[in-house]
Amino acid sequence: MIIIKTLAEIEAMKEAGRVSAKVLRKTGELVRPGISTLELDRFAENLIRMEGGTPAFLGYGGFRGSICSSVNDQIVHGIPAQDVVLREGDIVSIDTGAIVGGWYGDNAATFAVGQISEQAQQLLKVTEESMWAGIAAALKGNHLGDIGHAVQQIAEAAGFGVVREYVGHGIGRNMHEDPNVPNFGKAGKGVRLEAGMVLAIEPMINVGTHQTRGPFSDRWTVYTADGSLSAHFEKTVAVTDDGPLILTAE
Ligand code: MG
Repeated sequence: MIIIKTLAEIEAMKEAGRVSAKVLRKTGELVRPGISTLELDRFAENLIRMEGGTPAFLGYGGFRGSICSSVNDQIVHGIPAQDVVLREGDIVSIDTGAIVGGWYGDNAATFAVGQISEQAQQLLKVTEESMWAGIAAALKGNHLGDIGHAVQQIAEAAGFGVVREYVGHGIGRNMHEDPNVPNFGKAGKGVRLEAGMVLAIEPMINVGTHQTRGPFSDRWTVYTADGSLSAHFEKTVAVTDDGPLILTAE
C-alpha cells in the first residue's frame, strides 16, 4: 500500500531530509586516501545526533553502521570498518539516513578518493545524471516505469549495467515503503504517480554487467558479479502538484 503524504507531512519530512543531506555532504568532504570507513561512520553518526536526528541505518536488520560505505566493486550496503582504509584511486559510495520527528530521510552519493581513472569519473557522472533523469520523471500523472526508463536509458547509452536486484523505494515514517522504484522499466507502465508520494530514487550502476553477487558471510555487502566498479546516487523526492520536490536538500 502506497502511503500518500499531506503537504504538512512533506514539510515535516524536509527536516529529516536536511539532516541526511548535510551528513552526506560533510562526510563526503572527509573522503581522502588514508581514512577508514569506520572513521567516516563515527563522524556521520555524531553529526546526525548533533543535528537532532537518529541514524536510520544503525541497528536496521542488525546493521552495525550509521552509514553504508561501499568501495569500488561493492554496489551497496558495505559495512564501515576500521580495516577498510580508502586508497588513492578508489571510489566510495556513502549512503546516509536520518530519522527526525519520526520521519525518514535517505540519500547517497559516490565520491572519488584522490585522483580516479577516467572510467571511474565517467561512471560517477553518468550515474548522477541518471538519478537526475529519474527525478525529472517523478511527475504527477507519469507512471513508475517512466522513472526507471529514464534512468536506464542514460546508463545503458553509456554502456553501463543497471542493477536489477536492488531498487529505490517509498519512504516516510518507515525507511522502506511501497512502491519499489526500479531503475529500469517501460515508459508509461506501472503505478501512476500521485502528488503526495515520496520516493527514494537511487540508481545503482555498474561499469560492466548488471549482475550482482553476495551478500556473503557479512550478510550485507553486495558486489558486482564481474568485479567492475559500481556507483550509487540517491535522493528522497516528493511528487507534488508543482513537480518533483527534493527533500534531502539543505
Ligand atoms: Mg534508499
